[in-house]
Parts: sequence; C-alpha cells; structure tokens
Amino acid sequence: MKIGFIGLGAMGFPMARHLAKEHEVVVWNRTREKAERHAREHGSHLAGDIRDTADAEVVITMLPTSREVDEIVDTLLPSVRPGTMWIDATSGDPNVSKLTAERLAEKGVAFVDAPVTGATVGAENATLTIMMGAKSAADFERARDVLRLCGKTLIHAGEIGAGHAIKVLTNSIMGATVWITSECMLIAKQYGINLETALAVTNAGSGRSNASENLLPMRLLQHKWPLVFKLAHHDKDIRIANSLAHQQHASTPMLALTQQLFTASLHQLGEGADYIEVAKVIAAMNGTKWE
Ligand code: NDP
Repeated sequence: MKIGFIGLGAMGFPMARHLAKEHEVVVWNRTREKAERHAREHGSHLAGDIRDTADAEVVITMLPTSREVDEIVDTLLPSVRPGTMWIDATSGDPNVSKLTAERLAEKGVAFVDAPVTGATVGAENATLTIMMGAKSAADFERARDVLRLCGKTLIHAGEIGAGHAIKVLTNSIMGATVWITSECMLIAKQYGINLETALAVTNAGSGRSNASENLLPMRLLQHKWPLVFKLAHHDKDIRIANSLAHQQHASTPMLALTQQLFTASLHQLGEGADYIEVAKVIAAMNGTKWE
C-alpha cells in the first residue's frame, strides 16, 4: 500500500518507520533533514514536494495541533484522490476534525481521527494504544489495518471526533494525577519523610498511578528531566478538554483548575519544557527545589 506520512516528530518518526516495514511510505517533514534521514535509514521515500504524499491510498498526519493539520489539508485538498483515507494521529480538536472530515468528504476522502497514547517509548516499540473516531466500522477496520503496525491496542471510540475527545480527556486525568502526586510528595519531603520511601508507600497503596510508578521517581529522586512530551502539547490537550466541557455547559471545576495550573506552568517554564516539569513549578510555589 502507498502511504503518505506527514510529520516526523518525536512520535511520527518511529511510527513511519514501522509502517515502512510493510508499505511504500512517502515521508514529508517541515524540516526536510528529518525526512531525508528517515528515507536514508528506514527505507521510506522522500517526498520531493508535499503534494507527493497525496498520491496515496492513505495519508497520515502526526502534527502538534489541528491547526497545522488544517493547513496541510488546505495544501493537499486539490491533489487528494477520491477513495483515499486520511488518518489524523495528532492529538487534535474534535470540533475541528469534524469540519476537516466534511471538507475531505466532498473530495471523496474518508477521515479517521486516530490519536495515540503510550509516549515515545510506545511509538518506538509499536505498543501504542490508538483510539479512533470513524464514521463507520468499515473505516475503522481500514485504519486499523494500517495502524496495527504502530500499536498494540486499537479501539473504535465512536463517531469522527470521538478519538480526539477521549484522548484529551485521558491526558487531563494524567495531568491532574501528576500534579496532585507531586504536591503530596513535596509535603511528604517537607515533613521529613524520605522521598524514596514516600513513593514506595504510594506505589504499594491506593495512591498508585502511572505518575507515581513510572513518571515521577526518575525526576524527583534522580533529578533527571528528559523531554519526552512537551508541556505545550499537554497544555493544548487540557485546553481542548475544557472547551468540550464548556460546550456541554458542564460543571467541571477540577478540569478547569488543572488547565489553569498547566497553562500557568507553561508560561513559567516555556515552550521547550517537558510536562513533568510542572513538579518544578510546584516546588517553586513553595519556595523550594526537589534537589
Ligand atoms: P513534535 O513537536 O516532536 O513534532 C511535531 C511535528 O510537527 C514535527 O514533525 C514538526 O516539524 C511538525 N510541525 C510543527 N509545526 C508544523 C507546521 N506549522 N507545519 C508543518 N509541520 C509542522 O511532537 P510530537 O511528535 O511529540 O507530538 C505530535 C502529536 O502527538 C501532538 O499532537 C502530541 O500532543 C501527540 N502526542 C505526543 C506524545 C509524546 O509523548 N510526545 C504522546 C502522545 C501523543 P519539524 O520537524 O519541522 O519541527
């Protein structure tokens, strides 16, 4: 199958690598060197022009937000062929996705939103969980047949937009969990409890989470703060989740507070920060550091 793949960032680069094992993958990236390296090292084909990705049975986008996806749709709309499927793996905005799907449908192109979870390690190991919004079971099956090379658990979440919606909601749960766990670890530390002990007790009890088991120990104990998922992306996800709550006239104070805290942290830490660095903001709010 010929696949056009657009966006070779932290997630897209390894995903396109897995696809190239079975398919003819034409890659395009804004920073061309990354696409050249992909073609050189992973057997994909370098797109001479972005329009080369449109001449495919499937087009996949993996970009920061729906805004960049829409810009690419604008560019490729005159070139896409009826019968093509557009899979958007970006953690996007479901409202924008529905409009994008309508625009593509006018050209006979089916749209599936297929955001992923599992972090860069999941993209590297092809163990991602992929949640899809698809108009029909047939569209879901078609997308699944492609994306099975990138993930382990592939779920049809509902109509177009449902994948994007559940993605930002689960990321909001993760954000709130990272925040409250960091706060409680800071209090434990200030109370005089060894942080390793505090995390061990948390992980042996009801406060256990992905944050306490996998994300925070390396940062809080070893003071290593790798960039694996940009805070800017996480903030974007939680803002989309809030916009869905707003749209439904829902009362969701915890979600609103989480968004406020993450947006404030982004302003403090800047665009280059990793999302777990919010723990540094919590320490700073208390006039201290984790070291
Ligand atoms: P990166 O920032 O690593 O990569 C973003 C990609 O988008 C790059 O290829 C970049 O090109 C390209 N890009 C950015 N702006 C534009 C533009 N204006 N026009 C064209 N291309 C553009 O992001 P990730 O791979 O980390 O994330 C991608 C999506 O996946 C996001 O929606 C994110 O929320 C989601 N996600 C990320 C996870 C993670 O752990 N990183 C986990 C799960 C989901 P260039 O190389 O030129 O900068």
